[in-house]
Amino acid sequence: MPEKESNGIMLYAQLTHENYIHTVFFELLEKAHELSQKLGGIEISAVCFTSPDTIEGFKDAFRNMGVNKVYYFEDTRLANYSTEYYSKLFVNLIQEVKPEILLIGATNQGRDLAPRISSSLHTGLTADCIELDINEKGQLAATRPTFGGELMATILCKNYPQMATVRPNVFKVHNVDYHVDTEFIKKDTSILDELKNHVEILEFKKTIENEINDLDNADIIVAGGMGLKNEKGFELLQKFANKIGGTVAATRPAVENGLAPHSVQIGQTGKTVRPKLYIACGISGSIQHTVGMDKSEHIIAINNDPDAQIFNIADTGIVGDFFEIVQKYLES
Ligand SMILES: Cc1cc2nc3c(=O)[nH]c(=O)nc-3n(C[C@H](O)[C@H](O)[C@H](O)COP(=O)(O)OP(=O)(O)OC[C@H]3O[C@@H](n4cnc5c(N)ncnc54)[C@H](O)[C@@H]3O)c2cc1C
Repeated sequence: MPEKESNGIMLYAQLTHENYIHTVFFELLEKAHELSQKLGGIEISAVCFTSPDTIEGFKDAFRNMGVNKVYYFEDTRLANYSTEYYSKLFVNLIQEVKPEILLIGATNQGRDLAPRISSSLHTGLTADCIELDINEKGQLAATRPTFGGELMATILCKNYPQMATVRPNVFKVHNVDYHVDTEFIKKDTSILDELKNHVEILEFKKTIENEINDLDNADIIVAGGMGLKNEKGFELLQKFANKIGGTVAATRPAVENGLAPHSVQIGQTGKTVRPKLYIACGISGSIQHTVGMDKSEHIIAINNDPDAQIFNIADTGIVGDFFEIVQKYLES
């Protein structure tokens, strides 16, 4: 492994289209504090791309969450995400600051940006991690599912920065007040003059990202699997969700059978959620599904098979027919 370049842990602070800091940044930040402590309290920095005069609105958030340094790029050309612009500026910054660890949220944007950065820097990237730790040698130990989710692999990176992406809702935010005197460092964007942006954004339409955010923020998720059988089952699920103020989600086979859109798929190849209540209806409970919901605060499972795996992780199990149970509940 090359000589360690230990200028702290760097995080990407993605701004949403509505100009909020994406919640995944705060989740990563909390984990970064833990990793920093294990590495002797190394510095935590954030990287932010904004349009001019926007950073002011975010300063308190960065201070209160204990970010030591914020590197920000302000330019009208950065108002919307651009692979070329963002990755070029990010790579230059990393070459200058030389962080030991770089963490990026596995949002649509992060999934585009992270591999671009890692290949430019010839470093390794462990994507969609579900745990991050520091091993006895002080290396980032990034754990993610492998072999179709049947095994967990802990992966070490041979180069710096050691890069990892983590999906939203994998880590929990505890709202600790870390208040520090954050240093805000404005970085030069003139290099953009030499670049060609190959994508012109004509208009933004809220579609999938919007639905995804609904699931991200839902306190109650009512998820349906193949036990619901067809559209009628999902209509009943929607009525059930409406009655209890829940948001509908689904398993992969339900999505593949056209019963729900992919944006509401939970699991290894879908979303990770952490609601207060997750009601799994007609879902068998395979690892590829449960990896996306097993950190929910309370899990209720309705399944007609008393041996279904889902009951192993459910706090409350109801053995019976989904249609009968929910119909009775709706009529009550
Ligand atoms: C690489 C890979 C990635 C994957 N990614 C995902 C993923 O992201 N998300 C995901 O969900 N899956 C994923 N899968 C698929 C996963 O392995 C399972 O096949 C899937 O989760 C099962 O879906 P299900 O529970 O809806 O269906 P089934 O396994 O068919 O289970 C249906 C359940 O409904 C119950 N049931 C039947 N009738 C009733 C009734 N009337 N009332 C109540 N219960 C009833 C049955 O007892 C059964 O337990 C992935 C698989 C692979 C290989």
